[in-house]
Amino acid sequence: MRVLIVEDEPNLGRQLRSTLEGAGYAVDLATDGEDGHYLGSTESYDAVILDLGLPEIDGLTVLDRWRREGRKMPVLVLTARDSWSDKVAGLDAGADDYLAKPFQTEELIARLRALIRRSSGNASSELNAGDIRLDTRSGKVTKAGEPVKLTAQEYKLLSYLMHHKGKVVSRTELIEHIYDQDFDRDSNTIEVFVTRIRKKLGADVITTIRGLGYSLEEPVGGT
Ligand code: CA
Repeated sequence: MRVLIVEDEPNLGRQLRSTLEGAGYAVDLATDGEDGHYLGSTESYDAVILDLGLPEIDGLTVLDRWRREGRKMPVLVLTARDSWSDKVAGLDAGADDYLAKPFQTEELIARLRALIRRSSGNASSELNAGDIRLDTRSGKVTKAGEPVKLTAQEYKLLSYLMHHKGKVVSRTELIEHIYDQDFDRDSNTIEVFVTRIRKKLGADVITTIRGLGYSLEEPVGGT
């Protein structure tokens, strides 16, 4: 899952980025509204954290432009403390959630997880595929109840596929959603990660759809 942070306070931006990276997200950071708007218009994000008070272009205008351009990614707006007018304006401009500064990082991550889950149509924070379980809160993966250790990149790939279970996900889409902007993107590495995940979780967990991409096998009978 890939997240864009648009925040002009350098310390807060850096801290959010490292916290989210630690929680298993690919993260891009923009420090003004113009750069933020550009990234959100041209790159693929699973969610955006958007500060309202920004240099160049303010957050509400950025959000309004994205929505007019048809960009539908979930957006969590950071508002000034107790500013109900900011909250109302943010929701009117197309925000999906808001959080007042100062906030607890844990709350931000929980809200972000919920936004991403809802926008991909998942009601529970625990995702299942056959006997594989992925807990989006703890970042733990089990197979038939047994813990399985995945690397950060393997986890990102599996998590994206599990959020979009039953859909065919192209290699390009995977690359866009598991790497940040600065990452040296090589589409061959996707193959490598898929092979490693199959070794750890079973050969049939990820189905290759020739010429189209990958799909997580639907559990037979469902659970
Ligand atoms: Ca600000």
